[in-house]
Amino acid sequence: MPNCRPRRGPGAGGRFAVVDPATGEAFDDSPDQQPDELDGVVGRAEAAWRGWRDDPAARAAALLAAADAVESAAPGLAPLLTREQGKPLAESYAELDRTAARLRYFARAAPGPRPIRDGRPVHSEIRWRPLGPVAAIVPWNFPLQLASAKFAPALAAGNTVVLKPSPFTPLATRLLVSVVSAALPEDVLTIVTGREPLGARLASHPGIRHVTFTGSVPTGRAVAEGAAASLARVTLELGGNDAAILLDDVDVERIAERLFWAAFRNCGQVCMAVKRVYAPVRLHSRVVEALAHYAKSVVVGAGLNPDTRLGPVNNAPQLARIEHCTAQAVSDGARAVCGGHRLERPGYFFAPTILTGVPPSSAVVTEEQFGPVLPVLPYGRLDEAVEAANSTRFGLGGSVWGTDLDRAEAVAGRLECGTAWINHHAELSLAQPFAGIKESGVGVAGGPWGLYGNLRPFVVHRPLEG
Ligand code: NAD
Repeated sequence: MPNCRPRRGPGAGGRFAVVDPATGEAFDDSPDQQPDELDGVVGRAEAAWRGWRDDPAARAAALLAAADAVESAAPGLAPLLTREQGKPLAESYAELDRTAARLRYFARAAPGPRPIRDGRPVHSEIRWRPLGPVAAIVPWNFPLQLASAKFAPALAAGNTVVLKPSPFTPLATRLLVSVVSAALPEDVLTIVTGREPLGARLASHPGIRHVTFTGSVPTGRAVAEGAAASLARVTLELGGNDAAILLDDVDVERIAERLFWAAFRNCGQVCMAVKRVYAPVRLHSRVVEALAHYAKSVVVGAGLNPDTRLGPVNNAPQLARIEHCTAQAVSDGARAVCGGHRLERPGYFFAPTILTGVPPSSAVVTEEQFGPVLPVLPYGRLDEAVEAANSTRFGLGGSVWGTDLDRAEAVAGRLECGTAWINHHAELSLAQPFAGIKESGVGVAGGPWGLYGNLRPFVVHRPLEG
């Protein structure tokens, strides 16, 4: 993996190179911090916690100031994010908008004490208390948005945070942390960058009280095993293989563009992207044609180019994985109606690909492809489509598309997942609980539930009279 190549500088700790996926060339580097540094980092986070946990008003003010600072810094942050992640510049700005909005949302959301009213002659009260230092480990697809989804609720709840970004995308996150932490007391939010086993050692560090992780299922499993050593709380937001079911009254031409972006935004590297489409047999070829027609019109290129709608895949191993799973589907009998190959140019570009004739047992259907490749499968009876949609080991999201909204909603209610949409996909409210079922996750993020995930209840019972 080129961007994990270590560089050792004289006198300094090592550094690892960071690659621009639009060129395939390294353009900067980041500190390759070693696991033995974690004792100091976590110890400072523990010390900083004692001041941070006790003053909710000061915390709220600091987080609101941090949100303003993120907005002011967006013109510096967004291009850096695009450079290392690949996404179109407008989408990097959208990540920053979301980051600022999240800081503001959680700044005002910390719960106060709440009485328990159960008819007993005592005054009982729940007081919510923070946990201590929280480890936040995030992937490379939405580095800033996912980092803030961890640190905003954890900080608002009164914890301190040690954040570890992916080695593929450490740079914008480091800059973001310097911007946010300038509005906070020292060591309340810190970042560590480096290659494995840094994340594994952070997850199992005895000073960490909550590990909040977003990433793949196998790594999530390893994180849970590591955190078990100190019995730290674990929140896992893992992979998805979301299905979109098209009903027989769907207006294919009307929804094609929206459905395309539900699958291909961020080059398909979205946990809750549409990863499989089920279309009625009668409409199947029209759906394939409409999606392929739109795919051919999309400008693929470097994210910094203002015309680009679809950037490169983020990294070389992921590109190899997408090539492999597409080739496997074709050898299983599928046909790429458009795309199906990487682009003959520098960088990690893969042509947007619509697959037809895919056997339901092919890995591109049963696993998470996490790239710009979409299988469209025909179904006969609606029950078969619902059963197929629910048949994988994932359960993050799903959607139903049709003209009769009541009927679509009834079908959506049969999906086994955490969030279902009608006629769109993957749009989340900051105020909603976000939770996958089956192997898509453990615990709940988002809204008040995201705060409670970073708090513990402390209950006091007091008699009405001495
Ligand atoms: P990944 O699991 O490879 O890595 C995620 C993070 O864990 C990175 O920071 C990585 O450096 C770190 N890591 C690697 N090995 C570790 C270990 N043994 N212990 C602790 N940390 C370790 O995932 P990825 O390839 O970076 O991201 C893509 C995956 O993330 C996809 O499966 C996608 O669906 C998932 N994802 C899920 C959500 C969600 O909210 N459910 C959101 C975005 C992405």
